Amino acid sequence: MKGTVYKSTGSWYYVKAQDGSFINCRIKGRFRIQGIKSTNPVAVGDVVEFEIQDKAGEQVGVITDIHDRKNYIVRKSVNLSKRTHIIAANVDLAFMLVTLKDPVTFTDFIDRFLVTCEAYHVTPILVFNKIDQYTKQELVLVKNLIALYSDIGYQTIEVSAATGKNVEELKSMIKGKTSIFSGHSGVGKSTLVNALEPGLNLKTAEISQQHKQGQHTTTFAEMFDLSFSGQIIDTPGIKGFGIVDMENSEIGDYFPEFFAIKGDCKFHNCLHLDEPKCAVKQAVEQGTVAWSRYKSYLQIIQGEDENYRTDLYAE
Ligand code: GDP
Ligand code: ZN
Repeated sequence: MKGTVYKSTGSWYYVKAQDGSFINCRIKGRFRIQGIKSTNPVAVGDVVEFEIQDKAGEQVGVITDIHDRKNYIVRKSVNLSKRTHIIAANVDLAFMLVTLKDPVTFTDFIDRFLVTCEAYHVTPILVFNKIDQYTKQELVLVKNLIALYSDIGYQTIEVSAATGKNVEELKSMIKGKTSIFSGHSGVGKSTLVNALEPGLNLKTAEISQQHKQGQHTTTFAEMFDLSFSGQIIDTPGIKGFGIVDMENSEIGDYFPEFFAIKGDCKFHNCLHLDEPKCAVKQAVEQGTVAWSRYKSYLQIIQGEDENYRTDLYAE
């Protein structure tokens, strides 16, 4: 039987069968796992083969195989162990909520998210939330950011979870798709998801609150069906997506506007750092590539962490 994993608790997997029923499954034996070594062989969003077995009169599911993943995203590595944790598989859309204040979302945070989406072949969409709370000047900054990212080719949308502005548009974007919502704590993920699908309360906010109090909670992603078709994957406690095994030479390729012109760099293996006749650096100087994007690139390639902030307003 074929099904989709909606929830995993480490040893149990809650699988939705094609007839719509849910079955608790375990994994049995070894099976072929594609891609990276992870702490969890099966993740939310995985399409699996399972069979029903009778265990002392009780019906339990046993996962016997995983279908090839279209993509997957991993959790940012929190320890030195090489093993990664797959947050979710087969994700269609990754939304990042961005706010200019309460809290501030810096461009490096946005750019890292976009790089991760490029690396994992997940379509990113930037959602500028709390559009109702901005001054005229702040709205100009929002427009500038939207122009910056849409010029590169990214989808963006301005919304207000509070007033409902563009919530219907967002609804039509997630209809029939499997989506994941990310962004800093307080950007309005729970409020927005609740506006999209009343009653669907994300755990993200709650968990990050616990996190602040120093409690260590192990949480697991969970997928929910939308009443108007599609799914949302809730990722409690997950602060950011990580990137596994990314070579310095590929990072530039995950900046589409760099990738588009890298053929004009003098060296075919140009890292756009100190090389002469670098088309990317020239474009930054001429203003056709945003300085904030180049700064984010340097930050990633130099292995600096996100605590080094670029200025959102520096353009
Ligand atoms: P989360 O941590 O990302 O899940 O954020 P929440 O959904 O808990 O929202 C954090 C705060 O922002 C709450 O006080 C919300 O009422 C508020 N909020 C969320 N969306 C909006 C919005 O569109 N406009 C305004 N003004 N406030 C919002
Ligand atoms: Zn170059």
